[in-house]
Amino acid sequence: MSITALGSSSGPGPAGSRRDVLARPHTPAPAACTTGATLLLNATYEPLCVVSSRRAIVLVLAAKAEAVDVTDDEVHAERVTVAVPVVVRLTRYVRVPYPVSVPLSRRAVFTRDGQTCVYCGGSATSIDHVVPRSRGGTHTWDNVVAACRRCNHTKADRSLAEMGWSLPHPPGAPSGAAWRLLGHRTVDPRWREWLGMPDSVSA
Ligand SMILES: [Zn+2]
Repeated sequence: MSITALGSSSGPGPAGSRRDVLARPHTPAPAACTTGATLLLNATYEPLCVVSSRRAIVLVLAAKAEAVDVTDDEVHAERVTVAVPVVVRLTRYVRVPYPVSVPLSRRAVFTRDGQTCVYCGGSATSIDHVVPRSRGGTHTWDNVVAACRRCNHTKADRSLAEMGWSLPHPPGAPSGAAWRLLGHRTVDPRWREWLGMPDSVSA
């Protein structure tokens, strides 16, 4: 798929009008519905971040990005009509100058653990510190898991050994490009294929 800046859609000018832009009265560009969010991919299709749809349109119009997936909404700017993009891809590769580190948040923990309680597999509703904070447990990726309220309440201030419980696998910080986008934003379902996320994981 290619750029969706499809050129003029304000009606084909009659052949022979050398410069529409001069022949037509200028119509101010309406501030259309550009309040949405757009997934920004690197030139390599690696997810980079989420930008406003308005920002994404500016990038497309400047030929700095191309639309990969679009909505049915359109924005009229100057003499160009642009479909509001859901996903855009930079035309030139940018180096990401910072190491990927995922902020620890409730949403991100839930996403990492598949929205389920690590102890019983039920629906997660809370965050549990594996080593309780009251006993020196840290609020870090390797000590935080998603849990249901019942398990959390049952475990309270005890350790796993005291409970006779175990974890399916040791918790750790998530990695991968997709995780940059989690923990602080709602994920548009249309981003999933680019984020490598299964449909069942809701953020
Ligand atoms: Zn549970």
